[in-house]
Amino acid sequence: MADFNPAAATAAYLAQMPPAAQAKAIAYTQGGHWLLLLELAVSLAAAWLILRSHVLPRLEARLESQRPRPVLISFLAAVIFLALDFVIELPCTAYTSWWREVQYGLSSQSFTGWLTDNLTVFAVQLPFVAIFFVAFYALVRRAPRSWPFWSALLAGAFYLFGAAVQPVVIEPLINTYQPAPPGPVRDLVVSLGKANGVPTDKIYVYNGSKQSNRYTANVAGLAGTARVALSDTMFKKGADLAEIRGVVGHEMGHYVHQHVLWGTAFIFVMVMVGGWLVQRLFPLVRALLRASEIGAVADPAGLPILMIISATLTLLSTPLSNTESRMFEADADSFSLAHANAPDGLSEALIKTAEYRAPSPGWLEEFVFYDHPSVSHRIRKAMDWKAAHMGPTPSLPSEPSAG
Ligand SMILES: [Zn+2]
Repeated sequence: MADFNPAAATAAYLAQMPPAAQAKAIAYTQGGHWLLLLELAVSLAAAWLILRSHVLPRLEARLESQRPRPVLISFLAAVIFLALDFVIELPCTAYTSWWREVQYGLSSQSFTGWLTDNLTVFAVQLPFVAIFFVAFYALVRRAPRSWPFWSALLAGAFYLFGAAVQPVVIEPLINTYQPAPPGPVRDLVVSLGKANGVPTDKIYVYNGSKQSNRYTANVAGLAGTARVALSDTMFKKGADLAEIRGVVGHEMGHYVHQHVLWGTAFIFVMVMVGGWLVQRLFPLVRALLRASEIGAVADPAGLPILMIISATLTLLSTPLSNTESRMFEADADSFSLAHANAPDGLSEALIKTAEYRAPSPGWLEEFVFYDHPSVSHRIRKAMDWKAAHMGPTPSLPSEPSAG
């Protein structure tokens, strides 16, 4: 113990993963990078098909033959676009988020189970997203120049609203959340919560294994709806108290440091810049696609064009949003180390997440594609922290005074 070496300790954790498991994790993770391109291609194709079908301009012509009905049109255009898009993209979604997960042993859910969950979430979100577009188009009509600013405020407000209602409206529809049962796990989480000003009455264990075998936990909600939830997969994969300490410390870090609010500020900036680009790109893309029946951005029939531009911008901004996310994750790790003081527990937990996030990517791959710092960097940070906080070297056991 006298010569604790953080680099060697990190290598020892990484060596817990057999070479075959490493190779599989790399194939899964790098294949996932390519899926981003596939998903963009499918989104663009779906939007193009909906544009070619002329369903939205026809709806507009029919409903507005007597008088303008901007609210009704924008609501229906959003509902129809989102529903058609959901159906057209379903085979791709099923491949990426169900079939591939099952192939890699990361899910054991049946297809019908997966489809039911997916349809449920889509159906519950649909009216909210449609209302967002009604408000968005109202802003574009009223403020033809400054709408990127107002729509960024709107997007931030919807994001906060979504974050607040997600644990009470969406999650209970697809998973069962139970308060952590009395026992050492609960006692530990409650004491950590009390020490860090986190409400301790909403600590749940949920049946995450229904959808995914991933070792995971999360914090969700806002103010009164905030809660910490541990997936039952943690316990199925043998999480001990030190691991739970490390993981819960990390999730509490997200809560205490208000990462949801910082995330909202980030979304505000991204949507504002994106809106400014849409103002400039919309006429170009419309001309390129020869969609002469579509008006300006304010025309809800142009929703497919809006989606083509935003899906492309979203993919291009992946390195930015991932860098933002990695900063929050690194901050949550620091919080866990400082306040839960379990560098080894955190590392044991992290190595279990490496099956779905290959632990040692190159720096460019990590910068562009990783929404968490790589597991090897995170464990190294924990081991560096451990080295810096070990205190004086303990007495050797051979010394008679050691007791
Ligand atoms: Zn996190």
